[in-house]
Amino acid sequence: MSNLIQAIRGMNDITPEDSVWWLHFETIVREWAHAYGYQNIRMPIVEKTDLFVRSIGEVTDIVEKEMYSFEDSLNGDKLTLRPEGTASCLRAVLQNNLLHQGPQRLYYSGPMFRHERPQKGRYRQFHQVGVEALGFNGPDVDAELIVMTADLWQRLGLRNIELQLNTLGTSEERAAHRAELVTYLEANAELLDEDGKRRLHSNPLRVLDTKNPQMQALVEAAPKLIDFIGDVSRQHFETLQSLLRQAGIDFVINPRLVRGLDYYNLTVFEWVTSELGAQGTVCGGGRYDGLIEMLGGKPTPACGFGMGIERLLLLMQAQGLNQPAVCVDAYIACFGDAAMGFALQAAQRLRQAGLAVQLHCGGGSFKSQMRKADASGARVAVIIGDDEVAGRQLSIKPLRGEGKQQLVALADAAAHIKHLED
Ligand code: ATP
Ligand code: MG
Repeated sequence: MSNLIQAIRGMNDITPEDSVWWLHFETIVREWAHAYGYQNIRMPIVEKTDLFVRSIGEVTDIVEKEMYSFEDSLNGDKLTLRPEGTASCLRAVLQNNLLHQGPQRLYYSGPMFRHERPQKGRYRQFHQVGVEALGFNGPDVDAELIVMTADLWQRLGLRNIELQLNTLGTSEERAAHRAELVTYLEANAELLDEDGKRRLHSNPLRVLDTKNPQMQALVEAAPKLIDFIGDVSRQHFETLQSLLRQAGIDFVINPRLVRGLDYYNLTVFEWVTSELGAQGTVCGGGRYDGLIEMLGGKPTPACGFGMGIERLLLLMQAQGLNQPAVCVDAYIACFGDAAMGFALQAAQRLRQAGLAVQLHCGGGSFKSQMRKADASGARVAVIIGDDEVAGRQLSIKPLRGEGKQQLVALADAAAHIKHLED
């Protein structure tokens, strides 16, 4: 055992037992995205490093210290395992000229990679579902995206997730705020921790995002972005709030919500739970009107969000939701030389009628095969011995409830099993 190779820290296997949660989640997400008219898009996992540096921003946590970057050993290209999906999605949209066909509503899901300290709800390979609405000014589409997330929690059976909302205004408004903020922080430089000092000139807004309790008073008293927000931005924010109220969606305004990526403007939001400890944000997003142009496209308004699948699954489990059951309908046990050929045929016939069927392989006693049938979770055991082969019949034994074992013609077996299940 000692020389077994282990997975990389923070990168986890999803075993079949966990996987039932993932499959259940993925089915719901697919139906949900379809219900809102969002189309699926799939991008590569590796991109040029520059894509993320340009879009996420050079002095963000992600680009400064969380990216898995490496050099292509053949041509020296600088490459990165994607830490998030929006940049890749926009690159793909631009490269494939999708915006020529008009605005796009897109979603994707898959692994993301960040070099963080692994802990509950925080991994180095984790999975996100991302949704992007490209080519809409909002705030109608901003509201749609938020309504959509609220609906997803309901479809998943989740409760008690708080919606936090803020506006970041325009880049001019942020610049005016930033100038005052820098002046304020410079005047209080002795109160800044190391991260704070480093960000003071590179990304002062991020100083406000500190988790250091010793800096809370300083942050509370800092100039607030909301006081620099102009009429147009304010109107956007107010209309969004009004739309959410009409949709019956509760929210709190969190003026300190700035998000960890540089590209946002106007609307930003997070869905936060108190049931997962420190890793409480299950979904975050907002508007990023400048990003498509920054990546070389025509100026195009855009809005989207990403959610952490592991955190949502942890929350489903923390809230006591039932483990989704994934069992076959029938388990076929078979005895004797002639039985296997007939069993293969019978299994195929039942599957064609829409049943999930597990065929016993490897022989063994009646007792051991029936034990396996029970453990499979199947509703019925189908028993095939010499008599069944001779009569082209199946013995069908219900494994749950009261029903009696019955001998049924192969042609009637599927209907019989389905009838038992109702
Ligand atoms: P956090 O503040 O928790 O680090 P973030 O702001 O870096 O989150 P985003 O970039 O907005 O996260 O990603 C969207 C979502 O992806 C998060 O809300 C979270 O649910 C999930 N997520 C982010 N990083 C991780 C990670 N390392 N492990 C698991 N899930 C993650
Ligand atoms: Mg993070």
